[in-house]
Amino acid sequence: LPDRYKTVGNSVWNEFTQLAIEHKPLNLGQGFPDFPAPDYVTKALADVAAGEEALLHQYTRGFGHVRLVNALSKLYSKLIGRPIDAFSEILVTSGAYEALFSSIGGHTRPGDEFIIIEPFFDCYEPMVLAAGGKPVYIPLRPKSTTGNGPTTSADWVLDPDELASKFNSNTKAIILNTPLNPLGKVFTVDELTTIANLCKKWNTLCISDEVYEWMTYKPNKHVRIATLPGMWERTITIGSAGKTFSVTGWKLGWAYGPANLMENLRIVHQNCVYTCPTPIQEAVARSFELEMTRLDSPDCFFNEISAILEPKRDFLVNALTHIGMKPVIPEGGYFVVADWTPLENSVNLSKETDKYKDYRFAKFLTKNISLQGIPVSPFYCEQHKPLASNLIRFCFIKKDENLQKAAKLLRDWK
Ligand code: PMP
Ligand code: GLN
Repeated sequence: LPDRYKTVGNSVWNEFTQLAIEHKPLNLGQGFPDFPAPDYVTKALADVAAGEEALLHQYTRGFGHVRLVNALSKLYSKLIGRPIDAFSEILVTSGAYEALFSSIGGHTRPGDEFIIIEPFFDCYEPMVLAAGGKPVYIPLRPKSTTGNGPTTSADWVLDPDELASKFNSNTKAIILNTPLNPLGKVFTVDELTTIANLCKKWNTLCISDEVYEWMTYKPNKHVRIATLPGMWERTITIGSAGKTFSVTGWKLGWAYGPANLMENLRIVHQNCVYTCPTPIQEAVARSFELEMTRLDSPDCFFNEISAILEPKRDFLVNALTHIGMKPVIPEGGYFVVADWTPLENSVNLSKETDKYKDYRFAKFLTKNISLQGIPVSPFYCEQHKPLASNLIRFCFIKKDENLQKAAKLLRDWK
């Protein structure tokens, strides 16, 4: 294995998916819905498969199927408030993963620094390392809240001076994720403005991972950093059909930004993925076309999904609170992070050998309580992993009956 991959172990997703296959727990681990996507989305794929259009089963345009880039152009031109060119400013990718990979790989020279906000979606770190860059970490820190009341993801904040101290002339980019996986933090305009001002001051890029853009809970609103003054020209924004339409298995994503930056992503993309599956792109294009006819209506899936998720979030937060954990109420996304250590006396972690206690607890829960969550230390750099040893993440984009089962498993255990 080349040195640049030597520090990268088996990812938490591979490890915990294998554990779920072996132990068959109720799975609130990896983030995916356990209920069907909207009918018209899966029907669009069925129609493509059954249809007469033979070419929809052949290669399509490498940088994105024409019908899909046109749909994305129309949608994001409206959301960003400027015309976004379908052919030069959008790239369709193999999931948001590949959009991240191409954004990072297409912009890294040896020694370039990438600022990563902790906790972060775990693949950012190995992607930067593999590209020859240097990750520079800054943790969100929980504000000390008074009393024992519930905390929310808004209580986790960056220290503006600490953030400023991470920028220098080697900084290539900051990687932003809003709403943030795993905490559910939705960055406010003020917070984004602080970040944007530093990007402009140091002439850096911003790679903005917005795969949970449609999942925010009142009164929080998703703000696209590319809409802030002076940011379009330095921002690459990333989305995911898997998250947008509840079809994570389709593994289709995209990136959009100014043509000069997108050209660099295309160079990476064209010689590894080359082109994404045509039927999937066609079905996603048709689905966008439908939703764009009703963007302002509560029936639009982009609006409906948060309304579906909010009571699920509240149910899970209550269930965790009830048994004594301390959940951080998320403002967006579909995960809850909770401090499990008030239950420390009820668990026996001695059979697990992992270095970090959150791993030992998550494995204990999968094997003994039949409930799977994800440890949170993978979302921190090696040095900061101890900050997460008391934390576990649960996914709540699940059927009500399964969330109820999870609550019962926890109650029966306690
Ligand atoms: N970014 C974040 C923050 C994620 O949670 C995920 C997981 N879906 C991805 C990127 C990757 O998305 P995809 O499945 O579309 O590759
Ligand atoms: N984004 C999802 C999660 O955080 C899935 C991760 C993955 O597929 N690697 O659980």
